[in-house]
Amino acid sequence: MKNDLINCIDKNKKDLVDMAREIWEKPETSYEEYFASGVQKKYLEENGFKVNTVQGIDTAFVAEFGEGSPVIGILGEYDALPGLSQKVSLTKEAIYESAPGHGCGHNLLGVGGVGAAVALKEVMENNNIKGTIKYFGCPAEEKGVGKCNMYKKGCFRDIDCAFSWHPFDVNSPWRPTSLSNFSMKFRFKGITSHAAQSPHTGRSALDAVELMNVGANYLREHILDSIRMHYVITNGGERPNIVPGFAESWYFLRGKKASDVKSTLDRLVKVAKGAAMMTETDMEYEVIDALYDYLPNQSLTDIVSENMRLVGAPDFKTEDLDFAHKLADTITKEERRNVAISFQGNPNIIEKYLHDDIVDSEDYKYKNVSGSTDVGDISYMVPTAQFAMAAWPIGTAAHTWQACSASGSNIGFEAMLSAAKVIACSVYDILIDEEKLEKSKEEFTKSLDGFNYKPLV
Ligand SMILES: [Zn+2]
Repeated sequence: MKNDLINCIDKNKKDLVDMAREIWEKPETSYEEYFASGVQKKYLEENGFKVNTVQGIDTAFVAEFGEGSPVIGILGEYDALPGLSQKVSLTKEAIYESAPGHGCGHNLLGVGGVGAAVALKEVMENNNIKGTIKYFGCPAEEKGVGKCNMYKKGCFRDIDCAFSWHPFDVNSPWRPTSLSNFSMKFRFKGITSHAAQSPHTGRSALDAVELMNVGANYLREHILDSIRMHYVITNGGERPNIVPGFAESWYFLRGKKASDVKSTLDRLVKVAKGAAMMTETDMEYEVIDALYDYLPNQSLTDIVSENMRLVGAPDFKTEDLDFAHKLADTITKEERRNVAISFQGNPNIIEKYLHDDIVDSEDYKYKNVSGSTDVGDISYMVPTAQFAMAAWPIGTAAHTWQACSASGSNIGFEAMLSAAKVIACSVYDILIDEEKLEKSKEEFTKSLDGFNYKPLV
């Protein structure tokens, strides 16, 4: 039966590759993905899926097939990054200067999930397999808010588990955690006055911002090592001869657990209140976005790992290897090593240019990928598994021109087709074996330890 799934994806190869290429050619940033969501909706509808829009989020949708349980979610993304416009080329060369580009490979990510969903439908129908497949078209991953906002509109409430993947430089089940991230702005209001004639009547909002930063830098010594705190001053007043009546700073706080970041944020708010008191200004703060760390479901990831071995590494051609070799040579060895070890610990892997293997290890459970993803929110709702497929030369980081170049090349497309196969086979395992889902749910309940998901903002 898994062969049928794999054959079906091979049969649809042209449609899937064309779709991924078109999305790559028309990159759209967060919440602007009208073209990308449009072509996916159309293709899924043509293939017999019922497509529902998500009220209030134009570029989100849910495509559904089947009936009854289990209900399995497949997560797709399709947004691009601002300023990363890049040709499929070996040098940094924008298609349109300062236009967006697919430097995170989301043109591949979503279509991979679509390919899996369509193959599953065909095999489920032909073999009378019960269950429901829901493909979620998720916008705005790069802003870190798409999935959380879809949840607020009622999405994801009825699924039993979820699968996703991400283009990377290696083939590996995603066992590491990722960082929780809070983004917030602190705004101070003071009293303007002439800075020379009547400074005594002024209350400087900029002083408050500066004192808050000093306090934050003292706080830094007494928070968990793993927490990252960074800020910029987004408004520091108009000109030196006016005591600033308004000033604003923008903070990011990241850490391994959302709960730890939240408790640090509470302390940072006290620092801001102290700064306001010292300067006799008023302070208000706003948490703009916040996303959870990723809580990998290891038993569900075991299923993914087995199917990665079954499907194998992407089917790269000699030309792909040649292109990858030259593209990788635009990055220093040191940097390639740093990137290559983030999923797997072997720095020597960079001696290869395309990953032709599947790597997995118990140790990966204790690693942390130092980025953030809104799949983290899903992983606190239901058991979730995802994996990395080699869509870029080994040692290529996300959000680079090299990643954008490879995501529009055959390297990316081959990775996408393999990813579709892995997702389809993993979902199939859950459909035919209730115990596998039960096992992942037991692990989920245990790892949550009584915690109930609610959006952080
Ligand atoms: Zn991404």
